[in-house]
Amino acid sequence: MTEPRLTSSAPELRTTDHELSRGRARFVDLHLHSTFSDGTYSPEVVVAEAQRFGLRGIALTDHDSVEGCARAAQACAAAGIEFVPGAELTAEQEGNELHLLGYFIDTENLRLLEQIERFQAVRQNRIREMVARLNHLRMPLSAEAVFLLANCRSPGRPHVARALVAAGMCGTLDEAFERFLKKRRPAWVPKFKMGAADAIDLIHNAEGVAVLAHPGLNRTDAVIPDLVEAGLDGIECFHTKHSTAIAEHYLEIADRFHLLVTGGSDCHGLSKGKPLIGTVKVPYQHLEILKARALQTKAATAASKGGDLQD
Ligand code: AMP
Ligand code: ZN
Ligand code: FE
Ligand code: FE
Repeated sequence: MTEPRLTSSAPELRTTDHELSRGRARFVDLHLHSTFSDGTYSPEVVVAEAQRFGLRGIALTDHDSVEGCARAAQACAAAGIEFVPGAELTAEQEGNELHLLGYFIDTENLRLLEQIERFQAVRQNRIREMVARLNHLRMPLSAEAVFLLANCRSPGRPHVARALVAAGMCGTLDEAFERFLKKRRPAWVPKFKMGAADAIDLIHNAEGVAVLAHPGLNRTDAVIPDLVEAGLDGIECFHTKHSTAIAEHYLEIADRFHLLVTGGSDCHGLSKGKPLIGTVKVPYQHLEILKARALQTKAATAASKGGDLQD
């Protein structure tokens, strides 16, 4: 992978040449899922894997959930790994689904937690609806079987796929998606999504940094100027499914709009074949810059709340 450039707003970097020349702990992975959404690793296993790969920092970014962050933070503290509390919020802009990563969010922010609870209720109802459609197709799956397998508040299509495989109704997860769960397949149910500007606002209100996830996957270039207008802080240039050319393309966009650059593997543990953690090499400097921005955001929020207003 091409060595990423830093954005023009880069603060002075603290990673020493000595550390870099030793080649240790240079990389971070800022996009990871756990069992609190559709990953198969518990937060502790995510951290153990991060340690095994010698990562210097990680972010946990479960879909519409922050529940794994406390456990991951604790495990990271014990392992000497820098931890970024995060979440991946499902949103939409002009009918396109897009994912917004919130980094350094306050995981106890009431407005964020209220919205997350709403998203999770929507996800649970969507599971029931997908199962009803499968039943209609004479697939005798129960919603309870999916919930039991998912064992989290933020279930999604991968859990339905795993339940179909576990029940022997599909041979593989891919088959389950291809036959039933992909967009416009017979058991596909659209998901309620908040507007992207509202998601950015929610992340900012929780004192976090808002980053557009894997733009290369959602083909959302046309909406980027609107997202920037809505306060988008950064863009995920490095991702498992971004080729070098795509990463370069988004680095240019980041430069043009003065956006921070992030990256991560989007590892879901074993749910999509091989575990991806640590496979996208994101230099530590990007975490430093993200952290500097988060500190600015927190200072601005504290000032605007006058130090005594809670929401
Ligand atoms: P949902 O949030 O319920 O719409 O589910 C989206 C999740 O399904 C994302 O993590 C996708 O990467 C995952 N997904 C999509 N297609 C597949 C597939 N063929 N096999 C496994 N996971 C998939
Ligand atoms: Zn996922
Ligand atoms: Fe995503
Ligand atoms: Fe993800």
